[in-house]
Amino acid sequence: MDTANVRWPDSLWAAVTPPGPRLPELEGDAQADVIVIGGGFTGLSTALHLREAGVDVTVVEAMEPGWGASGRNNGQVIPTLSRPDPEDIIARHGAAGERLVALLRDSASILFDVARRYQIQAEQEQTGWVQPVHSPGRIRIAERRVRQWSKFGAAVEILSRDQTRAMLGSEAWYGGFWNRSGGHINPLALSRGLARAVLERGGRIYARSPAIAFERRNDRWLVRTARGQISGRALIVATNAYTGEFSKQLSPGIAHEVMPVLSWQMATQPLSESARKTVIPGRQAMSDTHGELYFARYDARNRLVTGGAVIGPGNKSERLKLAVAKRLQRLWPQIGPVHFDHVWNGYVGMTTDFLPRIHRLGPDAYGWTGCNGRAVALSIALGDQFAKAVRGVPESDLALPFTEPAPIAAHALLRRLAPLMLMLYRRRDAREIA
Ligand SMILES: Cc1cc2nc3c(=O)[nH]c(=O)nc-3n(C[C@H](O)[C@H](O)[C@H](O)COP(=O)(O)OP(=O)(O)OC[C@H]3O[C@@H](n4cnc5c(N)ncnc54)[C@H](O)[C@@H]3O)c2cc1C
Repeated sequence: MDTANVRWPDSLWAAVTPPGPRLPELEGDAQADVIVIGGGFTGLSTALHLREAGVDVTVVEAMEPGWGASGRNNGQVIPTLSRPDPEDIIARHGAAGERLVALLRDSASILFDVARRYQIQAEQEQTGWVQPVHSPGRIRIAERRVRQWSKFGAAVEILSRDQTRAMLGSEAWYGGFWNRSGGHINPLALSRGLARAVLERGGRIYARSPAIAFERRNDRWLVRTARGQISGRALIVATNAYTGEFSKQLSPGIAHEVMPVLSWQMATQPLSESARKTVIPGRQAMSDTHGELYFARYDARNRLVTGGAVIGPGNKSERLKLAVAKRLQRLWPQIGPVHFDHVWNGYVGMTTDFLPRIHRLGPDAYGWTGCNGRAVALSIALGDQFAKAVRGVPESDLALPFTEPAPIAAHALLRRLAPLMLMLYRRRDAREIA
């Protein structure tokens, strides 16, 4: 991929967000105590927490801060995983799983606190997150989530059909799961704000500098780029679903344990004042129970930021505009004509069990992947955990359930077939659950 001229996607976020800081490329030899590869939420949050503790840190980013999932996402701040609930996480990971559950519970508040503490203007609104259920039987999903998250003290409630109708202004849903601590942000503004905060506290960020590979040499980590190299005591690999994007050698084990699936995002023109009186009047972030997800939130200019899934030939962006406009008008007949100004996409790293993969990669080296489309809040919270890990906090105090990287067999073939899962999701979405 050509990194000489960073071309941002035609996203709402790239159109409305003030430019990020001007950053140098890595040239020649450099040193740091901690090297972070990847300048998304995970990498930048790790660097910021390290600087806060006075640790010398350098971020090496292939393009610009926020160029990956962090600058392209829907900006919903969701303090849960996509499907696994506390009992699933603890069944898999035991005590470390319990600590991860506690971190997830607090993750939205951690994100909003970071934005407040560092005075980052990211259009943040802590209005809550709602998961409405799209069939009567699926209220059991919401009930299960409320039961399990309540045990851990999360700010969650069940919503009746009437409450959901009032909250969302739509007849389409049958109740829902409500978490008060969630909300939404402009994700590119948060990425750039984090980058600025890292620089202001004496951290270094190199941009347009894809790491080709890393290795252990003379008890140090060495990261090579096209025009330079940097050596450090500790290393964080924060490249997530974009791990194989710039260098196949970077970390094939991590790159091949997730399916990078394109997720399409789109922004409507600003909704009229009268439509806004009933369409999600409390401005919550919303993602429902469809496998072919229905999701929406307002931006600061009253656009609905939503999206959809598409497969097959033809102009995907134009097909999406038609299909998602129809969907919005079905969900909210009062919405009026729907026009989209921006359509863009980004890679979501899917795992087979919807759980994240967190790794110890060697002495003082850590990484993770597998956001499953739900880790805006988690990645910021994990940054703090990785910062603690390289500062020597014992594993028993960290919310990091480590596993070994486990590449998916026939990854290349499955990656091509993964978009076809949409047909399966559509079939499941249409069926009531047993
Ligand atoms: C379209 C979309 C919508 C989403 N919506 C939501 C949502 O609403 N709510 C939610 O909770 N989650 C959502 N997610 C998931 C969320 O965006 C991610 O979990 C989160 O941004 C992950 O942050 P990260 O820093 O770990 O990874 P990324 O932001 O992807 O950062 C990885 C960085 O590594 C860099 N990189 C890659 N290779 C190299 C290399 N060789 N050398 C140097 N740098 C490299 C990339 O350029 C990139 O900047 C969405 C994801 C997508 C793609």
